[in-house]
Amino acid sequence: MTTSQPLELLAPLSGVLLALDQVPDPVFSSRVIGDGLCIDPTSQSLCAPLAGVISNIQDSGHAVSVTDENGVQVLLHIGLDTVNLAGQGFTRLVEEGQRVEAGQPLIEFDADYVALHARSLLTLMLVVSGEPFVLLVPEQARVKAGQPLLHLSPADTLAEVNEEEGDALFSKPLTLPNSNGLHARPAAVFAQAAKAFSSSIYLHKQTQSANAKSLVAIMALQTSRGDSLQVSAAGEDAEAAIQALVTLLLDGCGETLAAAAGVVKPAAPVLSPTVLRGVCASPGSAFGQVVQVAQPQLDIPEAGAGEAFERAALARGLRAAAQALQTLQAKAAGGAQVEIFRAHQELLEDPTLLEHAHSLLAEGKSAAFAWNSATLATAKLLEGLGKALLVERAADLADVGQRVLKLILGVPDCAWDLPECAILVAEQLTPSQTAGLDTSKVLGFVTVGGGATSHVAILARALGLPSICGVQAQVLALPNGRQVLLDADKGELHLEPNLAEIEHLQAIRQQQLLRRQREVAQAALAAVTCDGHHVEITANVASLQEVEQALALGGEGVGLLRSEFLYLDRNRAPSPEEQASTYSAIARALGTERNLVVRTLDVGGDKPLAYVPMESETNPFLGLRGIRLCLERPELLREQLRAILTSAGLARLHIMLPMVSLLSELHLARAMLEEEALALGLTELPKLGIMIEVPSAALMADVFAPHVDFFSIGTNDLTQYTLAMDRDHPRLASQADSFHPAVLRLIDTTVKAAHAHGKWVGVCGALASEALAVPMLIGLGVDELSVSVPLIPTIKATVRELDLLDCQIIARQVLGLEEADQVREALRLYHAATVETSRVMEH
Ligand code: PEP
Ligand code: MG
Repeated sequence: MTTSQPLELLAPLSGVLLALDQVPDPVFSSRVIGDGLCIDPTSQSLCAPLAGVISNIQDSGHAVSVTDENGVQVLLHIGLDTVNLAGQGFTRLVEEGQRVEAGQPLIEFDADYVALHARSLLTLMLVVSGEPFVLLVPEQARVKAGQPLLHLSPADTLAEVNEEEGDALFSKPLTLPNSNGLHARPAAVFAQAAKAFSSSIYLHKQTQSANAKSLVAIMALQTSRGDSLQVSAAGEDAEAAIQALVTLLLDGCGETLAAAAGVVKPAAPVLSPTVLRGVCASPGSAFGQVVQVAQPQLDIPEAGAGEAFERAALARGLRAAAQALQTLQAKAAGGAQVEIFRAHQELLEDPTLLEHAHSLLAEGKSAAFAWNSATLATAKLLEGLGKALLVERAADLADVGQRVLKLILGVPDCAWDLPECAILVAEQLTPSQTAGLDTSKVLGFVTVGGGATSHVAILARALGLPSICGVQAQVLALPNGRQVLLDADKGELHLEPNLAEIEHLQAIRQQQLLRRQREVAQAALAAVTCDGHHVEITANVASLQEVEQALALGGEGVGLLRSEFLYLDRNRAPSPEEQASTYSAIARALGTERNLVVRTLDVGGDKPLAYVPMESETNPFLGLRGIRLCLERPELLREQLRAILTSAGLARLHIMLPMVSLLSELHLARAMLEEEALALGLTELPKLGIMIEVPSAALMADVFAPHVDFFSIGTNDLTQYTLAMDRDHPRLASQADSFHPAVLRLIDTTVKAAHAHGKWVGVCGALASEALAVPMLIGLGVDELSVSVPLIPTIKATVRELDLLDCQIIARQVLGLEEADQVREALRLYHAATVETSRVMEH
């Protein structure tokens, strides 16, 4: 900081001037953030007190910092606790990085709204860069926006900040628990704590880093709840700094986390601190003891012992890892596990990763250092792109990275020595760790990181292990051996369960197990309602293994082959021959009496495909996705159609187009299919249908119907596009509900249009796999339910308990309701009144 000129700061607002001591918030009145003043505003436009650059403006628009060319930094914060308004009532007039003149309006705010909805309107102007100042007007005075208020002294007395040299230590990644991220108050507490250490300290979020001693830099990271952060420090007290700051972050930096969680999900019931809450990753419940599991710290030497030697060490590590993954695949219980480890093997050959590692070897680094740096950098890059699937790829990469690293360093991949009835608690588990869990000892697990669609969740479901993820970080402080009750269905971990709760859940679990055994034993029986109406139950699959499992569990065919998942982790496109042999193998496994619905590539949105490079889009879910992308790259679609057509005759082949929103898309794709079929000499075309997953297609189903052989409703996308809620948005998860009457009305419209033209309709979105939804879907007239493989026996058993006429009544009823919750409740009541009563009668 080199302030050399005296400087006057202007009043950012009109209003009454108050001393900071009068602000009823200790973070501001204690001057932890910086010294300054407060104004009780009478105007509604916040102006720049000095000329400079916008060094930070919060997304929520309630705070902004301006830094001038001499490093003077001023933070303006409108109101108290206004971060909770999440942007409501504020309009940002400037962007980060923009130059502004003194007096220029920065933010407009609705004073009435803020006063009504936040704790206070008191607005702060703080000199966070620390220059001393004198007030030019007395306290309690009325001031006018733009009038000079403070006189700053030159900062030649201020100490230069010396950056500590040397290798930085990094903390393990931690998940930020604060519901509004590190906004001004927690950021100030954090920066203040960091200043107590002499080391240079940084806070890292994905690829961004912030000086941990700078409040503004921390705020500029724009963190939010659930972000994965790391602290690094270089200097004498680096270790102590990391330990203290990580603890502070996990404790919420002075914010009460229970209250913070309440802000994220306003509808959630207020839970006592004896219950920690997360999201269900794998259903079920378990009573057991806490076992905290942590990743061992690895000692990675930076310098190598010669390039040739280190190259050989890396090659050995990669070979050994490939072998280990091969063994894991051979031992894997099912398709999902095999797919995940095959993807890991692909990563071992990734050219970008290897190039990066080899360039570091050429610089004289050790094999371990080079590999670790390459995997971390690539994982950060993927995480930084922010898409759910890429973040999962980053987790896979970190997992593979550790596997190879341990092999290079000769660190044994020690199995955990677990007691009986263990409920594992971890920051995050890797897919390898999850797949290797000893299910005779582990009853379930709880993680701070992860999401319900992560590979760890998929593996947990395959292993039948109840688990929850996204749990508050306090869970990591639970002592080993503590008896806890994991109710994964509700996403809860009970820390002080009483006997009645334990017995109740165990009884439910027992009933579920018995019911499951019965359903699997009867899986081969047809899904026919009590009054003789047959519903076809098929499977959603992504591999040959899943087809085989589906058939073993009573699946009557494949209602959705997600072809984009067949080669998701390939860096190079599969050859036409390889594609053809994959489709033929799947068709052969099904045989000529069963349907095979192959969906053409649904790339884009949250599903990038490495071998189909795409330009980044501002709004990929509304961009070049599914059929749109394929029509842009017709060769891609033609090649796929040729490969699919080779399986004609081996099964009852159906081709389905994803994301169709315009009739012209269907016509173009049909023309291509006809040309390719003709070129192959086929006399009969396979059936051609479309996904109904965009509202325009559902609303115009009567227009599409004459031109298709069938429809399949993708309720996952239909829900996100109908309700305009991103299907991966964690805060909208409870509202983006396919049971919403708006979605159900579109299903109704689609079925009526299809049947009027003699076409059949399936549902292949996740709604079809919900037993609760089955009576409603059958009542709406859906002909086929394509469901996730393990649920085939359950959905078939559910159909066998129903009566078509009853289903039609409940379907009409729910169409007239107002909210998804009302629909769920009506279906629960219906279930209790009909199905459960008839079960009681049977016994
Ligand atoms: C859907 O959108 O419901 C669907 C089945 O497609 P996907 O989930 O693959 O987008
Ligand atoms: Mg879809």
